[in-house]
Amino acid sequence: MPELFVNGTWISSTAPGRPIRNPANGTELATVSEAGEAEVDAAVAAARMAFRGPWRQTSAADRGELLRTIAGLLVRDREEIARTESRDTGKTVPEGRIDVDDVVGVFRYYANLATTDAGRVVDTGNMDVVSRVTYEPVGVCALIAPWNYPLLQMSWKLAPALAAGNTAVLKPSELTPLSTVHLVRLAAEAGVPDGVVNLVLGDGATVGGALVAHPDVDLVSFTGGLATGQRIMAAAAPGVKKLALELGGKNPNVVFPDADFETAVDNALTAAFLHSGQVCSAGSRLIVHSSIHDRFVAELARRADAIRLGDGADEKTECGPLVSAEHRDKVEAHIARAVEEGATLVTGGTRPEGLDDGYFLRPTIFTGCDSTMAIVREEVFGPVLTVEPFDTEEQAIALANDTEYGLAGAVWTNDASRAQRVAGTLRHGTVWINDFHPYVPQAEWGGFGKSGIGRELGPSGLGEYREAKHVYHNIRPAPSGWFSGGDTP
Ligand code: NAD
Repeated sequence: MPELFVNGTWISSTAPGRPIRNPANGTELATVSEAGEAEVDAAVAAARMAFRGPWRQTSAADRGELLRTIAGLLVRDREEIARTESRDTGKTVPEGRIDVDDVVGVFRYYANLATTDAGRVVDTGNMDVVSRVTYEPVGVCALIAPWNYPLLQMSWKLAPALAAGNTAVLKPSELTPLSTVHLVRLAAEAGVPDGVVNLVLGDGATVGGALVAHPDVDLVSFTGGLATGQRIMAAAAPGVKKLALELGGKNPNVVFPDADFETAVDNALTAAFLHSGQVCSAGSRLIVHSSIHDRFVAELARRADAIRLGDGADEKTECGPLVSAEHRDKVEAHIARAVEEGATLVTGGTRPEGLDDGYFLRPTIFTGCDSTMAIVREEVFGPVLTVEPFDTEEQAIALANDTEYGLAGAVWTNDASRAQRVAGTLRHGTVWINDFHPYVPQAEWGGFGKSGIGRELGPSGLGEYREAKHVYHNIRPAPSGWFSGGDTP
């Protein structure tokens, strides 16, 4: 079955297909057709042609209606997509359902936002001037997504890009393209005009690289790792393309001794090990007050050991595998280095027994950590938690901010003043107080520091896909008289 979508038609390429595997057991789910240079060129050309066509004349209300239709189709196919996402990424089916529900919310949010913010009239103080700011779409957008939340990350881009009137070429991760193929089918079913949404599959360096460097791409929105983000930024520079980067995180989870112990332990577990820690906002650095450190770590380790690993389709499974054998190798290398650097392995660090066909790794906890260690500084993107103790609020804040990233963080305390003080001082794009992980489509998501450039979700998420244009109309034109025009005084 062809999986490339160009100018309203599903096509195959002559490039060899790629097998897509279920990371829970290595079985082949599909062999997908991947794009070559010719298909990337065709997809960009189709997006350019569509951008110049009647799509530019659609009203925000019409585009909003289209997004609402896509949301309705996602609701219809919720179970099928959730299961696809589970098989493709290894996450549990309930997590897949949550992803679809979140995505529905994002399409609905941008359907509404598109029509509520059409621009503004500027008060210049001059009655002879009409001045207004309008928003126009940027143009052809390359939307590049990672493998951990394939449908969700792509939708955070596609919904605002369409709401703003852009056209797009989508490039999901080569490891997990299946839910994006489904999404594009739904967009076509909803009536997205030919060329407005195009899909190319393939690996990052060739297909992704060709898109980013393509002279007819106006904007690149990328979610993925820091090193890739740096490469993309450099590749986009010659074309001065608009750029939005959602990169990694090394997110602190700060627990004060007055926090509710049970709630904080339970959430620290979810923060670190949800989706086997393959979450950009994973709470991978636990910063816990020394007075409760030992008890907290002991309870956390007990619960981490009890997490039921398995196939995400099995309803007893609490945590799935890592996405690939290569990725597990990388996480294991991080663990080996942490041991060499002197961190104390409290639990995990090995592969579980009886799950040899999948890419599983036991939830892993290190104590005795400090910020000179790579395990504390570098994003592991796996089920690995480091623990650092603190004594004072100032120390907790200093530890939490001691990272080149700045995506998300949390503070646990029952002292409301302290909660606000700490939240106000953390240099992270999202700060949770007495919670971890939730996001809402209405609020911006993105990072300080090397966690990225720009924001997704919220009004700013739409702003990434808009050009602001100032139209200044002098309704009483007259010579300016600035230059004499050759008249002698
Ligand atoms: P990755 O950087 O390896 O790949 C991401 C995407 O970029 C894939 O589609 C890949 O094919 C493509 N790509 C790779 N090289 C490219 C190149 N040179 N040019 C163009 N495209 C290229 O990331 P990953 O391993 O898929 O995902 C994990 C990373 O994503 C983690 O670092 C995680 O923190 C990050 N992430 C961030 C957020 C966020 O909201 N900030 C959300 C999810 C994931």
